[in-house]
Amino acid sequence: MSTLELIWDAHTRYKLWSWTNGSTHYVAHVIRRLNGRPHIFTVRIGARGTATVPTSNTDECASVAVVKMASTPEAAEALAREAQVYAQLAGVQGIAVPRCFGHFHGRVGGKEVVCLVLEYCAGFPGEQMQDPHRQIMFSAYALHAQGIMHGDLLSGRHFVKSGRAMMILDFAAAVPHHCLHGKRVLGPDGRPGRGVCPELAALEQSYGVYRRSERHSKRGASDDDDDLEHTRGRGGVYR
Ligand SMILES: [Zn+2]
Repeated sequence: MSTLELIWDAHTRYKLWSWTNGSTHYVAHVIRRLNGRPHIFTVRIGARGTATVPTSNTDECASVAVVKMASTPEAAEALAREAQVYAQLAGVQGIAVPRCFGHFHGRVGGKEVVCLVLEYCAGFPGEQMQDPHRQIMFSAYALHAQGIMHGDLLSGRHFVKSGRAMMILDFAAAVPHHCLHGKRVLGPDGRPGRGVCPELAALEQSYGVYRRSERHSKRGASDDDDDLEHTRGRGGVYR
């Protein structure tokens, strides 16, 4: 069991639990409500018993995270679905999607409280990044390789730069997905061809097409290998 002590001020703190993500005990101090998002807050968070445990909401030794609270049963269901997506994406957390600290529950003042705690990623796509379109496609390919279709990536607003990576956020429209994009498939006529995934194909239209290199294929790398090779671009993005 993991726990989260969510500290709002000197008088208000929530003790919440999670049975799905290890045995870490987190302490989080609320910084502020996220602009325009009434149920989303930023916090300073760290694990109890480590140097990163925050002593206040200005303690820069601790990480900044986002706490998404659910205020209705419908919102709680949506958070539970999002938590399941993050669990499925465990292999690419911190690489293509934010790290998930956990999906916590508890009762405060007789009311059920549910929240999802995620790494805070901020910035604009492309900001101080050498090849942002490559990073966008890297993250999108990684998501699909983990069996998730996002469902709302084409607007570009769910890509956020974080360090050297481009993180994909917000999985409200995500669905499980067996991605055959670029893989050898048999067509309805029984002839072999290459699979086309609508979400990845549409992203490639905007950002360019990347493929794993022949060199890596020949030495037996799997289709999920991260080593992508840019082969061509469209729309004047790559020349
Ligand atoms: Zn796909």
